[in-house]
Amino acid sequence: MLENVKIVLVNTSDCRNIGSAARAMKTMGLTNLVLVDPIEMPNGQAQALAAGATDVLANATVVSTLEEAISDCGLVVGTSARSRTLPWPMLEPRNCGAKMVEEGKQYPVALVFGRESSGLTNDELQLCHFHVAIPANPEYSSLNLAMAVQTLSYEVRMNYLDDVQQSRIQDVAEKTSDVSDDADNDAQYPLVQETERFYQHFEKALEGTGFIVPKHPGLIMTKVRRLFNRARPDGKELKMLRGILASIDKTVANANKD
Ligand code: SAH
Repeated sequence: MLENVKIVLVNTSDCRNIGSAARAMKTMGLTNLVLVDPIEMPNGQAQALAAGATDVLANATVVSTLEEAISDCGLVVGTSARSRTLPWPMLEPRNCGAKMVEEGKQYPVALVFGRESSGLTNDELQLCHFHVAIPANPEYSSLNLAMAVQTLSYEVRMNYLDDVQQSRIQDVAEKTSDVSDDADNDAQYPLVQETERFYQHFEKALEGTGFIVPKHPGLIMTKVRRLFNRARPDGKELKMLRGILASIDKTVANANKD
């Protein structure tokens, strides 16, 4: 499942940090590195800092937008040293590790890290289901990028090791009691690309009713995203919501005909 944990570095300016992040990841058993529009592509300096983790660097995927990096993910957690003006569901690093391990068994999950100078933008943070902040010294809370990767990767590893041990205990218990646990696949969370299609549909439908004025959209979609992020509809619920939107589309189209 550790292969399902993507470490996403957005717009990194110093490729030495990418090398150090690759090393930090590999020590914790993580290998899936995604670079979003890096300002400096990994070079010899990055390789030197990656040390024995040059394979992680060499296998890194490079994409141009955060949307591309996370579209196949079912869980996306953004990292931030500061609390932002827009409140968002928060995770502690430990719970973040637990969620990554739990959901990483079902689909790719992502931990997203920002620029050295300015972190992640509000738009990027809004693409995340949760935010996580390492509770550092409040007077000096900004860690070096690779060190933040190290700290949060460590929490993933601790939870992974716990999980491996729990599964062993459960295996033994199941073998002796002959009880198996049927997973409810319908209750799975949708992938980011499905949720993004839902938001696009939602916006279009509300433009149809006139609730959103395309020239003056205001903060409606930001607030809608925050609401659905908090509720985190599962696959079945998202399907129902798409059905509701389709019924709105139909009513609006009929009304426009008259
Ligand atoms: N000056 C930036 C900090 C950038 S540090 C700002 O104020 O946002 C570079 C990246 O390291 C951040 O975007 C974040 O991904 C990570 N990081 C640094 N300190 C962190 C902390 N305390 N908790 C979580 N992530 C942190």
